[in-house]
Amino acid sequence: MRLANKAALITGGNSGIGLATARVFVAEGARVAITGRNRVTLEAAAEELGPNALSAVADATDIAATEAAIKQAAAKFGKLDILFANAGIAGGTPLGSATLETFENVIRTNITAVFFTVQAALPYLNDGASIILNGSVISVLGNPGYAAYAASKAGVRAMARVMASELSPRGIRVNVVAPGAIRTPIWGPATATPEAEKAFEARIGRTTPLGRIGEPDHIAKTVLFLASDDSAHVQGQELFVDGGATASPAGAPIYRA
Ligand code: NAP
Repeated sequence: MRLANKAALITGGNSGIGLATARVFVAEGARVAITGRNRVTLEAAAEELGPNALSAVADATDIAATEAAIKQAAAKFGKLDILFANAGIAGGTPLGSATLETFENVIRTNITAVFFTVQAALPYLNDGASIILNGSVISVLGNPGYAAYAASKAGVRAMARVMASELSPRGIRVNVVAPGAIRTPIWGPATATPEAEKAFEARIGRTTPLGRIGEPDHIAKTVLFLASDDSAHVQGQELFVDGGATASPAGAPIYRA
């Protein structure tokens, strides 16, 4: 049990990568609080996770609600050892047709809320705690239509480095997991029908050296590494978990003879 006696909070723990990580954390002995906006899926997730989990409805962009959820988790579990600031949204902002509302919503959710989630958690974190922020390959790939999202995730990387400096005196580590394309509901219309999903996954497979889309568990197990003492000397890093898409794009099937 790599997280025995540890308490964790995961924002966006009712779906996709956050829920997969909550499952792995509970299996490794942690008590886990999950947050999100959707009460129905939150409660279903908490029930599935069992007695070592609790759920709290909290919109991450609502700082007071986030603080209340963190306080609730600390009241039940005692101080926290792990914070996974995972909640995030996509949202297209193509040059020429982007709206200010979408642009600001992406930035508010993916950067501002992440900063204030970490700030709200600080009084409730043990010294030596581990904070993991969720980044993305889109911060470096230049995907068309995703300027706000790319900027938000590049901002996450930059913030993590500053936070690592500021929190090192407390022995708190801050690292980023940066997923490639992962099979979760975040892709919306791109994967809404079985045909669309098949075409999407084939496209990702062709442009990924390992030839496939990633699974939520690929990320969850990397977050487990960053959360546990196995990564005790890893500080301020960004770990890409993308089947080689950023490090070795020339190895993708599309380039093979
Ligand atoms: P997902 O299944 O859609 O999960 C997103 C989670 O974030 C949900 O639990 C959602 O819960 C929560 N959330 C969104 N806005 C929120 C808000 N304002 N307040 C509280 N919770 C909020 O997608 P996912 O792929 O697992 O995404 C998780 C993270 O991974 C995101 O930060 C995303 O950018 C990142 N990521 C994903 C991929 C990928 O290919 N899937 C790749 C790179 C990075 P509610 O709807 O209940 O609020």
